[in-house]
Amino acid sequence: MKKNILDFSYEELVEEFSKLGLERFRVDQVWDWIFKKKVFDFNEMTNLSKEHRTLLSERFYVGIPELLDMQVSKIDKTTKFLWQLEDGNTIESVLLFHPDRVTACISSQVGCPVKCAFCATGQSGYVRNLSAGEIVAQVIAMEKERRVNIGNIVYMGMGEPFLNYNEVVKSVRILNHKKGKNISMRRISISTVGIPEKIVQLANDLPEVKLAISLHAPTNYKRDMI
Ligand code: SF4
Repeated sequence: MKKNILDFSYEELVEEFSKLGLERFRVDQVWDWIFKKKVFDFNEMTNLSKEHRTLLSERFYVGIPELLDMQVSKIDKTTKFLWQLEDGNTIESVLLFHPDRVTACISSQVGCPVKCAFCATGQSGYVRNLSAGEIVAQVIAMEKERRVNIGNIVYMGMGEPFLNYNEVVKSVRILNHKKGKNISMRRISISTVGIPEKIVQLANDLPEVKLAISLHAPTNYKRDMI
């Protein structure tokens, strides 16, 4: 069964490639095609030999979601994407255009178990967590669709990122890696409703990542109500 190459961290991929007899620099080449050139078909990665392209095509695929809908604001170019995942589930991502940068808001789950009363995602229920690759793919796919270089990433789409902690942290590391998207940790924010133990864990695991806490209400009583 083929594996989504976006689900692998850089070091994991180096190990996978070495099992196939491929050197570390082959990972650099493949990541360059995917993250920089936005080429998702191994057969189009022309600095790989035919033999290596075939080898990779037989074992991996680049898990880019299918674009179902894209709405662009006539006022400020804000772009909303609806993606279909491999299993048919759908998620949303948004691009925000500022004078000096482009910010991506990305999803971390299909649906959300938190069920905030005011939120359409919460009301639609929880389906599953996204894999690290499915999180990363939203960034790459939006860059390709809108031909932009995303300068900031906010985990603020569908889902509560701290309820998918391991995959979210892995996706941050992949996006931050200098051979990949190479986005600074300081330009990545995680928005949460506030799960205390995960806030502490994140401070240890990714101390440079920004945290945004959505309180929604001034008291715990009111927060529990909504
Ligand atoms: S945590 Fe976020 S995504 Fe989940 S229900 Fe609340 S507002 Fe919606």
